[in-house]
Amino acid sequence: MPAVMAYDAGMSSSDTPPNRAAGRKSISVSLRPRALMTPPPRLAGAWAARVITLLPEAFPGILGHSLTGRALKDGLWTLETTDLRKYGEGRHRNVDDTPAGGGAGMVLRPDVMGRAIDDAMAGTPPDWPLLYLSPRGAPFSQAMAQDLAARPGVTMICGRFEGLDQRVIDHYRIQEVSLGDFVLTGGEIAAQAMIDAIVRLRPGVLGNAASTEEESFSEGLLEHPQYTRPAEWRGLTIPDVLTSGDHGRVAQWRREMAEQITRDRRPDLWETFEKRKTSQKRDRS
Ligand code: SAH
Repeated sequence: MPAVMAYDAGMSSSDTPPNRAAGRKSISVSLRPRALMTPPPRLAGAWAARVITLLPEAFPGILGHSLTGRALKDGLWTLETTDLRKYGEGRHRNVDDTPAGGGAGMVLRPDVMGRAIDDAMAGTPPDWPLLYLSPRGAPFSQAMAQDLAARPGVTMICGRFEGLDQRVIDHYRIQEVSLGDFVLTGGEIAAQAMIDAIVRLRPGVLGNAASTEEESFSEGLLEHPQYTRPAEWRGLTIPDVLTSGDHGRVAQWRREMAEQITRDRRPDLWETFEKRKTSQKRDRS
């Protein structure tokens, strides 16, 4: 297996009809990894995820399914993995060594990681983000997902063992981003979670674009409760207002519920929301 693999649809294949909706000609729809001699073709308008990992076989993983999987097949976004092992030292392709100063575990070598980063950043514009998934990082958020979705793509480094040599983080000015206050065995799950959150914000990925506008966090509030058929289940009914057909009342009810849930469950979000509301009022007057 070569060092860099792409999981996006290959260009100029004849086995599937052209994807007219996406405005591209001849895109095959295989999600099998494609070996790369040269960097993969950059699809115009496609958001690109590049992931450095010791476990390239873990990709696309969950991202190859459902809406993100369809969008990957359709060329709305692309995925490349850079196999860190291929950059390892010696016959055994060693990527790690014992921590300076002693202690448990192993640390990923800066020379090995540096070579992988140079390849995974090749050809990217100067403001292309380079992130390291790390429990020490800034907590990932919807705002970060929105920012990253507005860029052409991102390179993510998945750590393993005790993580990266600090010099590599300093040298490349890598931004550390955390999935939450817990410790995983590796960055791959965090990378997939973040890529999912980003890709679903890209145009055309969710069928109904409005659905990203009303959901949790987009306005700083958690989402209102949702209901669907049957109208009665185990003696429980749907709130009358939702079946009233009165769109104004429905919107007002949803708003009130969203505010109540946010106030009860997440006082931190509620405080930020209230502050923003106050400053908006002040700006208007
Ligand atoms: N010794 C490190 C943890 C290493 S865990 C520390 O205490 O900070 C191994 C790898 O898993 C990390 O290098 C990182 O890439 C990934 N990882 C673990 N927890 C994570 C989290 N909450 N968010 C993002 N990545 C995480």
